[in-house]
Amino acid sequence: MKRVLITGAAGFLGSHLCDKFILEGFEVIGMDNLLTGNMDNIAHLMHLPTFSFHHHDVSTFVHIAGPLDYILHFASPASPNDYLRMPIQTLKVGSLGTHNLLGLAKAKGATFMIASTSEVYGDPLVHPQPESYWGNVNPVGPRGVYDEAKRFQEAITMAYHTYHHLDIRIARIFNTYGSRMRRNDGRALPTFFDQCIKKEDLTVYGSGDQTRSFIFIDDQVEGIYKLLMSSYVQPVNLGNPEEISILQLAKEIKALTQSSSTIVQLPLPLDDPKVRQPDISIAKKVLGWSPKVSREEGLQKTYNYFSKLAK
Ligand code: UDP
Repeated sequence: MKRVLITGAAGFLGSHLCDKFILEGFEVIGMDNLLTGNMDNIAHLMHLPTFSFHHHDVSTFVHIAGPLDYILHFASPASPNDYLRMPIQTLKVGSLGTHNLLGLAKAKGATFMIASTSEVYGDPLVHPQPESYWGNVNPVGPRGVYDEAKRFQEAITMAYHTYHHLDIRIARIFNTYGSRMRRNDGRALPTFFDQCIKKEDLTVYGSGDQTRSFIFIDDQVEGIYKLLMSSYVQPVNLGNPEEISILQLAKEIKALTQSSSTIVQLPLPLDDPKVRQPDISIAKKVLGWSPKVSREEGLQKTYNYFSKLAK
């Protein structure tokens, strides 16, 4: 049985990855410091003999007994609200945490995958964004703590590949949504659902003309799994190329939830990217993967989850 270590296991993406690897017949070791993670997300796995959980902060030395075939480093605050609130922890988990886990991967001879991000492109001047684009990031701006941690993470991971011949995977993850997001994590999509359910004003920042491209969790998990099982060591964009303005997203969620909420405009945060859309040519070609779930279906499933939470 193959053994995989997943950091950020109690988080949104991490917990879905735990499910996937259990389903695929792996022994899964989950790790999380529960800064933004929630044990409810993995409660259903805790009784399994093939699942174990370590409450640990990967910014400090990481020890795992026995062999490891794969390490997936998915621990990090991921919502702008969270990383603005916890800038130092965000920088540490992306830098020190990645270094510790790379050391562990090297010692165990494990394949090492990182959850990088579309934020490495910053406020992009090339649209849509191919992996070859180097990005437009303000290192000392409010989002720099996340963006630069992830850029450093890519750099040190590639250095371990080049100099230590470590087998690596770099997933550049675009806005992902679905069950187990925190309704109050501050990101646009869960926030709009939360506001619609509570019949509060829908807070669109700026004109709402800024765009994002949202991928449903099941598609994202499939992409990550296929990338891990490939032998491709360069960065790969994993996202849904269907682009939408934030105002349009607010309108769609309001219509879906049949909410009486009113859309209001608040100031646009500093350095907020104006556009974001993945070029997924590499993922299509190398992994034979592309997203399958429409926004209509994905939003409906997400609403079902959030409305159950409300009760
Ligand atoms: N946004 C918004 N209202 C909110 C939260 C976010 O209009 O209540 C905007 C935000 O300014 C950005 C977009 O929605 O332009 C996506 O923000 P999110 O925090 O979801 O993720 P990002 O892609 O910026 O990391």
